[in-house]
Amino acid sequence: MNRLKTMSHLVISASAVTVSLSLLLVSPVVADDTPASSDTRLSKAYNSKTYSPYASRNHPNRPLWGDAHVHTNLSMDAGIAGNRLPPATAYRYARGEQVQSSLGLPAKLSRPLDWVVIADHTDGMGLFDDIMAADPEVMAFEQIQKWNKGLTAGGSAAAEAKNDVIRTFAAGEIDPDLLAMYSPGAKKYRSVWESAVAEAENYNEPGRFSALIGYEWTSVIDGNNMHRVVIMRDGAERALQLEPFTMTPPTGSPDPRDLWKYMDRYEKETNGRILAIPHNGNLSNGYMFPLEAQWNGRVFDSAYVEQRSRLEPLYEVSQMKGDGEAHPFLSPDDEFADFETWDKANLDATELKSNEMLAAEYAREALKRGLIIKKHLGANPYKFGLIGATDSHTSLAAAEEENFFGKNSVDEPSAGRANKPLKKIGDGVLMNWETSASGLTAVWATDNSREAIFDAMLRKEVYATTGPRITLRMFAGWDFGVEDLDARPLENAGYEKGVPMGGDFRQRPAEAKAPTFMIVALRDPAGANLDRIQIVKGWLDSDGRTREKLYDVSWSGERVLDDSGKLPPVGNTVNVAAATWSNSIGAAELSTVWVDPVFDATQNAYYYVRALEIPTPRWTTYDAYRYGVDIPEGAPLTIQERAYSSPIWYHSN
Ligand SMILES: [Zn+2]
Ligand SMILES: [Zn+2]
Repeated sequence: MNRLKTMSHLVISASAVTVSLSLLLVSPVVADDTPASSDTRLSKAYNSKTYSPYASRNHPNRPLWGDAHVHTNLSMDAGIAGNRLPPATAYRYARGEQVQSSLGLPAKLSRPLDWVVIADHTDGMGLFDDIMAADPEVMAFEQIQKWNKGLTAGGSAAAEAKNDVIRTFAAGEIDPDLLAMYSPGAKKYRSVWESAVAEAENYNEPGRFSALIGYEWTSVIDGNNMHRVVIMRDGAERALQLEPFTMTPPTGSPDPRDLWKYMDRYEKETNGRILAIPHNGNLSNGYMFPLEAQWNGRVFDSAYVEQRSRLEPLYEVSQMKGDGEAHPFLSPDDEFADFETWDKANLDATELKSNEMLAAEYAREALKRGLIIKKHLGANPYKFGLIGATDSHTSLAAAEEENFFGKNSVDEPSAGRANKPLKKIGDGVLMNWETSASGLTAVWATDNSREAIFDAMLRKEVYATTGPRITLRMFAGWDFGVEDLDARPLENAGYEKGVPMGGDFRQRPAEAKAPTFMIVALRDPAGANLDRIQIVKGWLDSDGRTREKLYDVSWSGERVLDDSGKLPPVGNTVNVAAATWSNSIGAAELSTVWVDPVFDATQNAYYYVRALEIPTPRWTTYDAYRYGVDIPEGAPLTIQERAYSSPIWYHSN
């Protein structure tokens, strides 16, 4: 009774307010204050259309942090390597909750992420989990009964069973009927995909945390890595219309062109949007960014380059299996190019690496190759933005050096983990200490939603870091001046006079002599100071050859460039024994307006930013201090973490 009374009272007051407001609106005194007429009172020198510089703007204003590539126990290899954490735990960890790792350790991020993509391998998705759970349908296979018995027994029986699983899959000796159950079109596979999508729906909270729906298409040909993470803009309604694409025929294919065909079909049939992000070109032995021919030797045509540039707008440039920005062989003048380098062999270590393969494996070089291909075929298949992701197989999106949970659950924190062999490669061995605690993606999205994050990815307004949350802005235009750096908010000038990272230069005004760049980097508020900001320029010269040049454009302290144009190192405050460092060197903020000193308007070019932190301890140094063990021989004691912006492209016509 009481409640009803209150409600009718509210209704009456609301209509009373409406009446009085409409009376006010006709009063000429009040009309003067409406936004339409306030423009005229703002000085011509002040760019914003209203008093509040933030009102009515539609550009992004803060980077949203996320990991675009996390595996859970639904991935066959993650399960074999000890991951027992389902997608729900991966989401909870990503949004900042404390969870228990597969080995029983409490795990928590320093700060929540804003979004995540769980990207489990589509081939055999859910199978390992069902083996462990003794699912009656899979237990009907004798092979599975044997594995279930071994795996649940633990100890050497489990190790033996794991080896048998790996060997059976590698040799292609898995029962075809079992494989068919875990392939698109099968009831079982359908239910695994439905539960994965349902979990993304559960944890997707627009405005607070975005769980984008995705998966990994895991193509390997002759041991050469051609993996792609596939991400959808859409929710369950569309994502469930098609089951994920696999690499195993007859339902799947290892050929990227078949993946793209599938993606086109997804967009056509569901009216949704989808993109693919390749990773680990460094393990492709020359397959990732070819100059002329596809992996199968077929010379690529304009359809290939059109499809690739449309469907693959990004490249995952840094992750746990190595950093892929640059290689010292390709960029001998770049003293920072050799960073967390993995260049010994292809993915399954069946073929060693040779130097001729490298140009088709690293992002800086691929961006240059894209300029050549565009010249010949009219489109640029390698016109990609840069993101970082962990590719963690522990369900934990952990890229922090002081909080690193390893690539696989068997490599979660322990005294001996760093000094453990991972894989035999030729006469040598790949050690676990070589695993890189990287990477992370910042997205300049207008709000925290699947749609806004996806749209930012499509327009490449994103950047990669190797773990720290460095804030990085880059705008390019024809008339930025140093005074623009002092304006607040700074990005208003950025968007008004130029284009953000990931974009193309606007038409060059006839009077413009050279491109100008406005760049700002802020250190991770919880992290290390910055050493410097660099610009990497790649271009096609008048002889049709690709060139590159690095410029130090802003740096901390009183350092001056030496005779060869090099900036001296920033120094190093790391106390290795105690695994500490201090921000007594470096700068919290670096900014500059830079003008290209050697611009030639007839030559196509790209520009991206690399921002470096001062040296900090590597994860192996933290491990050594915490467990009282030696740092493995060969492991760097300190590293300079970094951010890579997506490029901005200049076109001569
Ligand atoms: Zn992969
Ligand atoms: Zn992966």
